[in-house]
Amino acid sequence: MSDNDNSKDSSNIIDHRKIGKKLKFFIFSDRVGMGLPLWLPRGTIFRKNLEEFLNDIQKKSGYEMIVTPHIGHKKLYVQSGHWNKYGKDSFKPIQTPHKKEEFLLKPMNCPHHCEIYRSQEWSYRDLPKRFAEFGTVYRYEQTGELHGLTRVRCFTQDDAHIFCTFDQLLEEFKKVINLVFYVFRHLGFLDHTVRVSLRDPKKNNNFYIGSEKNWKKSEEVILRAVQEEKINASINYGEAAFYGPKLDFLVKDSLGRNWQLGTVQIDYNLPERFDLYYRGKNNEKHRPVMIHRAPFGSLERLIAILIEHTKGNLPFWLAPTQVVILPITDRNIMYAKKILNLMLSYNIRVFIDSRSEKINKKIRDSEDYKIPYMVILGEKEEKNEMISLRRHGVGDIGIFTISNGIKTIFKEKN
Ligand SMILES: [Zn+2]
Repeated sequence: MSDNDNSKDSSNIIDHRKIGKKLKFFIFSDRVGMGLPLWLPRGTIFRKNLEEFLNDIQKKSGYEMIVTPHIGHKKLYVQSGHWNKYGKDSFKPIQTPHKKEEFLLKPMNCPHHCEIYRSQEWSYRDLPKRFAEFGTVYRYEQTGELHGLTRVRCFTQDDAHIFCTFDQLLEEFKKVINLVFYVFRHLGFLDHTVRVSLRDPKKNNNFYIGSEKNWKKSEEVILRAVQEEKINASINYGEAAFYGPKLDFLVKDSLGRNWQLGTVQIDYNLPERFDLYYRGKNNEKHRPVMIHRAPFGSLERLIAILIEHTKGNLPFWLAPTQVVILPITDRNIMYAKKILNLMLSYNIRVFIDSRSEKINKKIRDSEDYKIPYMVILGEKEEKNEMISLRRHGVGDIGIFTISNGIKTIFKEKN
């Protein structure tokens, strides 16, 4: 994973570690281990909302979800080349009790996905195959390098691998670009830049794996996709991965900092190493091309960026609690339950703060948790079957009939 470019100016005031702890999203425990985040219920909802959002768009875009184990045979990573590349930065292999076999905590999901592709024979008519997984990977980072959720030892990639024919490559690549932009728009990252990473023409060709012909083809595809989608991209020679060229997406957050999020890479190498093929029209074997892509990059890192970008004021669709109902006295609890059940039936994430605290204290606490809406219920509201609404960061927005109040809240749902 690449780093952010902002390590020097990461502000102490807006720090996802502090906000994340205060809003009860995640914690770290030395007993569990450094760099291994523990997701609290509120953070888990935040995370799952992101997963659901991406799952939804992926389903509509023809991706199929898969699940693979957290470990894999060491031989698998020797074959993929990852052992060679990541071996020294990985946790030591896990041995079976009789030391006959060695397993690794997976540093990448790609080899597992290749095996899923290999598990059956495909014809050109079946392609492209798009396998997606929220796959957790493990990297050994030095203790001094660990930093909140942006540098961890265990993180979850919104990973997918697309296996297609060369003729489909351009179209697939363009689809991925559009999916990444769609994701950014929904996350509120409106200012983004794109970086094309190609080979270094001066570098010895032995550095790069794969034939000259395939490299040329894939570099052409990336440049053409960028041109046809009218993307203003910078070209960086020498920044390609050793197995193929790539496209990186950088976003600018509300503090003006640049972060690298998504990445899309073309790979001819793994299909070769895993002997992947499909049957062409002539029934002969052909190599598919593989696209690696992850619009978020990693969930942990994205969440850190989103927390700092929004200062913890998450958009309504991501907020773990969207509405809190605040009865002014215990006499209003039954009415509060009625409103609660109604909102639950609309799939709103809502709860009642039924503590016997003063209403001002309850409002302050809800503001501290940055809950988008507060529903305040007293004698007046109950008698007239109304609800008073308060928007976080805005203040009171008025008294509404129940249905108009819910409509007002719903306006923010999407
Ligand atoms: Zn991959």
